[in-house]
Amino acid sequence: MIDREKLTALRDAPVAPAAHVIDGARCQASGGGTMDVVSPLDGSVLTTMPRGTADDAAAAISAARKAFDDGRWSGLSPAARKAVLLKWADLVDAHALELAVLGVRNNGTEISMAFKAEPVSAAATIRYFAEAADKLYGEIAPAAPGTLGLVHREPAGVVGAIVPWNFPLMIGAWKLGPALAAGCTVVLKPAETASLTLLRIAELALDAGLPRGVLNVVTGEGATVGAAIAESMDVDVLVFTGSGPTGRRLLEASARSNFKRVYLELGGKSPNIVFADAPDLDEAAKVSAHGIFRNSGQVCVAGSRLLVERTIHDAFVAKLKSVAEAMVVGDPLDPATSAGAINSERQLAQNLRFVAEARAKGRTIVTGGHRVREDSGGFYMAPTIVAGVSPEDALAQEEVFGPVLAVIPFDTEEEAVAIANGTQFGLAAAVWTANLSRAHRMIRAVKAGVVHVNTYGGADITVPLGGVKQSGNGHDKSLHAFDKFFDLKTAWIKL
Ligand code: ADP
Repeated sequence: MIDREKLTALRDAPVAPAAHVIDGARCQASGGGTMDVVSPLDGSVLTTMPRGTADDAAAAISAARKAFDDGRWSGLSPAARKAVLLKWADLVDAHALELAVLGVRNNGTEISMAFKAEPVSAAATIRYFAEAADKLYGEIAPAAPGTLGLVHREPAGVVGAIVPWNFPLMIGAWKLGPALAAGCTVVLKPAETASLTLLRIAELALDAGLPRGVLNVVTGEGATVGAAIAESMDVDVLVFTGSGPTGRRLLEASARSNFKRVYLELGGKSPNIVFADAPDLDEAAKVSAHGIFRNSGQVCVAGSRLLVERTIHDAFVAKLKSVAEAMVVGDPLDPATSAGAINSERQLAQNLRFVAEARAKGRTIVTGGHRVREDSGGFYMAPTIVAGVSPEDALAQEEVFGPVLAVIPFDTEEEAVAIANGTQFGLAAAVWTANLSRAHRMIRAVKAGVVHVNTYGGADITVPLGGVKQSGNGHDKSLHAFDKFFDLKTAWIKL
């Protein structure tokens, strides 16, 4: 529950200039100066943070390398690591509102969602992986008599983590939780427009007793700090959530440097497929609207393509329209707001460009399509539904990462599958149907990392999240997330 009094006290509190966290200490950039942190709520300068340099990244990597190699973390018993991480999770929980408000002022997500999805979920994620740390076993191979084959899991080393701005704590924790629980050390590069809360939880980790150098956070530009991490010979594993073009650069950097393993989560154009036999079309409309419009569509698994069976198309779009128009686009720090700000002016301009292109093609703007709350000085956009979209349109092929829903009618199950699979992406999908066999056929036929049935979103930490096709590789969440951070070592023994 959000304490409204505390929220009011926190919402305008001054924010001290931010600093990197390197080798257990706050430190300013070595020579890159600072960059303004602009709040998308009103366009004001919230504070400054270091414009990190390649030297800053190198200092953080060297601290992480030393911390890994001397065993101050990897050499602890898993139970000892668990104890520190559980304490950290408790501290994140204890500071949840402070973190949520800071995060909202930094990235614009509505607080009703950010509170749960950011600090509270990050704490739960850290706790989940901490609890697992001393419950993972190696293997004894079913090898031939006279031999013993053992499979050890060893922490993979120094992890570079590069994360985006939409859910910095949630996504950050998806990487940090399993990496640290496995015994790795980390250099984290937050997004330019959402660094403050990750810096803060790194400080809380030190308070919890995480040894210095185990978690380092370097702020700044992707092309400088992120690229230095990706190119480093001392980073063993790179984990990333962000755009496809950046993912491509990271793979190239790995190939140019030390072949570090690279795990990418690259967004999608996720199909939300509504059949006429859906059990409850009102519920489907409500959940589908939230599936695209929460956090103003700035969600990697957003259901941004609505494929709807033609016989119910008009009625369903009318229902969606009324849900969308009832959503309150407003002050992200007001708990009654259902959609907050767009993260940056650049992102808002990109969203509007997609709508302008659809309009120019003669597609129907059912609702929205425009900027709102301009007087605030911040960046806001009305929930937007575009109907009559062709599967080949940019709006049906490219990730907008904004509150823009493309509606495409279909006639048959086969056609729905063909349209659903007709993009470069394969992250998430949903199917709405009361027909059990159809639901299972669709789960198998749709190429995606997660297929929801009669719901959208909300899959919890117990299940993996990862993409297929150009949505990426590897998995966050669930015990499978550990695979990224362990090396397997075989011991082959003659008895
Ligand atoms: P978005 O379009 O969502 O901002 P990006 O892929 O540009 O997606 O950003 C995601 C993260 O990747 C951010 O932390 C950003 O700073 C970082 N990044 C951007 N460009 C590079 C790059 N060339 N090398 C490494 N990291 C980068």
